Amino acid sequence: MREKIRQAIPNITEEACDKFVAYYELLIDWNTRMNLTAITEPMDVAKKHFADSLAALPLLQSGAKVVDVGTGAGFPGIPLLILRPDLKMTLVDSLQKRITFLETVLKTLELPAECVHARAEDFGRLPAYRGQFDFAVSRAVANLSVLLELTVPLLKVGGKSICYKGDAADELNAARGALHLLHASAETVSVEADYGARSLIVCTKNAPTPNLYPRKAGMPAKKPL
Ligand code: SAM
Repeated sequence: MREKIRQAIPNITEEACDKFVAYYELLIDWNTRMNLTAITEPMDVAKKHFADSLAALPLLQSGAKVVDVGTGAGFPGIPLLILRPDLKMTLVDSLQKRITFLETVLKTLELPAECVHARAEDFGRLPAYRGQFDFAVSRAVANLSVLLELTVPLLKVGGKSICYKGDAADELNAARGALHLLHASAETVSVEADYGARSLIVCTKNAPTPNLYPRKAGMPAKKPL
């Protein structure tokens, strides 16, 4: 696994490589008891989970407050934190079993992050979290309109929601209404990958979010803005 990680993430330090190896071992072990990932081959995990998660790294300034919404087995939040332990990371997921896995990973890797078991719709209404983050990141959680409703309320004005996507054009077109209602604007950053089209849709919050959003749990996906 070590060699595959080195190939997928050039110039990685020995310490970070050790952490990715330990993360891989936990992922494969826990995956026998719960549904964490369908991707298990070492090179696939190194590229499609670990390296893929790092795409947002150049956009995150030192010490930024970051929330990973729908983190699942920790992607992209944990790989970002392995390379950038200065980030103040909060990992959110609606499945308690995955939160238990994440707490074990963080303890083993000696990484500081807060794990929260919540639906993003409820999390975004809590005063301790609403409007508090510099960045939201999300990968493989929902379409862009839904993601915007879940993540933009969490951002400070000027903060950015970074959505990991394949081909971005159709998603962006469908999310024009959501961008307008949530006072956000978007740009696309394409990402080099040899396993298909990858891009980041980077959405900036330009003004406070109306109190209406996020709507109650389930509504963003049922009736996207
Ligand atoms: N982000 C990870 C990745 O890229 O591998 C996980 C992707 S998985 C397909 C989607 C995850 O989002 C699941 O762990 C699910 O529990 C979580 N999720 C879906 N809707 C959510 C919501 N409304 N609030 C919080 N978590 C949610």
